Amino acid sequence: MNIILLGPPGAGKGTQARKLVDERNMIQLSTGDMLRDARSSGTEMGQKVAAIMDAGELVTDEIVIGLIEEKLEGDHGGGFIFDGFPRTLAQADALGEILEKHGTSLAYTIAMEVNDDALVERITARSTCGNCGEVYNDITKPQPADGKCSNCGASDFKRRADDNEESLRTRLMEYYKKTSPLLGYYHAKGNLQWVPGLGEIDEVAAGISAVLDS
Ligand code: AMP
Repeated sequence: MNIILLGPPGAGKGTQARKLVDERNMIQLSTGDMLRDARSSGTEMGQKVAAIMDAGELVTDEIVIGLIEEKLEGDHGGGFIFDGFPRTLAQADALGEILEKHGTSLAYTIAMEVNDDALVERITARSTCGNCGEVYNDITKPQPADGKCSNCGASDFKRRADDNEESLRTRLMEYYKKTSPLLGYYHAKGNLQWVPGLGEIDEVAAGISAVLDS
């Protein structure tokens, strides 16, 4: 079963995707993570996208579609969770074609419902474990007092360069201008499902599970 998690930055897509990986053997495909990996390993593409990402703008469709295409050549596990992809109508069309080429399709597009005030608060408070990617929040899920990640025990926490108010404003504008039209697109295709995204992590997860098990 392949799904898209759709929502603005800070909606909790990555956190929920990680739960689905653990609980359902699904494979998380986060184009944001792939681009950050390309940057930190210093590839030519990584260097090309660095300034665009820091500004909060979208990288080209061609680059992200290429990244996703590569991943679909591999193991499909319990299905893919598309996290942060697609973000434009051109990417959505390309995803449909790539899935069809691989003899599979999209089961659901899960739209996470949140409000902008909550997003600013979540994003500016966000950090992750540099080793395993566990997500922390200064208010709702602070880093453990012993300084060690509760998931893997590493003690290297990171904050994203683009998790600041200025970049977030651009990211939100990009979302409303270029990504939110996908809500209409998937509604018309008949696979859009809304899930409240503002509750506790487990409450949001229960909403997503209810859709997946329906
Ligand atoms: P994310 O981790 O999903 O918030 O993505 C971080 C940044 O990577 C975004 O602000 C964009 O600059 C870039 N990015 C990630 N996914 C995409 C995508 N599907 N299309 C264009 N740019 C993307």
